Amino acid sequence: MDAAATAEQVARVVATVESLGLQAHPIPGAQRTAIGITGNRGSVEAAAFENLPGVIEVIPVSAPYKLVSREAKRENSVISIRGVPVGGPALTVIAGPCAVESEAQAIEIGRRVRAAGAHLYRGGAFKPRTSPYSFQGLGEKGLKILSKVRAETGLGIVTEVLDTETAELVAEHADCLQVGARNMQNFSLLKKVGRIKKPVLLKRGMSATIEELLLSAEYLLAEGNYDVILCERGVRTFADHTRNTLDLSAIPYVQRISHLPILVDPSHGTGKRQKVLPLSRAAIAVGADGLLIEVHHQPEAALSDGPQALLPEMFEQLIGEIRALAPVVGRVL
Ligand code: PEP
Ligand code: MN
Repeated sequence: MDAAATAEQVARVVATVESLGLQAHPIPGAQRTAIGITGNRGSVEAAAFENLPGVIEVIPVSAPYKLVSREAKRENSVISIRGVPVGGPALTVIAGPCAVESEAQAIEIGRRVRAAGAHLYRGGAFKPRTSPYSFQGLGEKGLKILSKVRAETGLGIVTEVLDTETAELVAEHADCLQVGARNMQNFSLLKKVGRIKKPVLLKRGMSATIEELLLSAEYLLAEGNYDVILCERGVRTFADHTRNTLDLSAIPYVQRISHLPILVDPSHGTGKRQKVLPLSRAAIAVGADGLLIEVHHQPEAALSDGPQALLPEMFEQLIGEIRALAPVVGRVL
């Protein structure tokens, strides 16, 4: 739509799309609204829309993913998590423990990352663990602790949603719902989360292609949730010197073909504390919109992912270095 198109003109296009038995997805933007059309089997006849008032052009999207593509929306999407923008000129740093372990642990780490300059807090209450005998998270008790962390620190909360049964409960406490690598292709969970109108952090599956990642994001947008942030967290390769192989080439590739913001998680991407800072620098240099970092004040006692957790003072150093690097790549922190 034209930048000056009125709400009535957008509504008229939506009504026209729906009168053809198709779905209309008005995707708001700072400059102009794009209206995605889905539900068509073949191509859609452009003549039905192109002369409606306010319409600039009708663009057929050739990629298998539609609403997430840059063809559908040219300008970058900026997602707000409790007032913190993700995807604009400012970099976003989300930090906290892998898992909420106790109120004292969660709040102490919250204070430390807040003081260092984190914008949002992360921490899992429902944890996806490889072994059923490993710590599974505190569940609802952990969610209540996260609400206290928000009250104490003012930081918005990003936490994982593990299944459809607990999705609404998690959404009551979270400012952003994280869909983890293991659930990237849990399509019933994606549909459920797409219907909950909260921002979503969608992590790349450990063996997912970029097309698969974008199609998973498409599930969320197709349900009407346009507040989706992607996250590269490393993929499985033959390499065994790191936990995963952090695929930084994914960042400029995704940015070329999609309008969605993309973060990098060098904590899961490397699995090793000493590698988190260098790969954070690399992530920002390559154009990532921000970082997801695991921090613990007593990593040797952590109930999950201790070896990759930064100590609070290491996180402070990371923030300082990223702040210095940001202007080099046209960003601010
Ligand atoms: C996490 O962020 O805590 C997590 C479990 O990450 P991933 O899904 O990327 O393994
Ligand atoms: Mn973790």
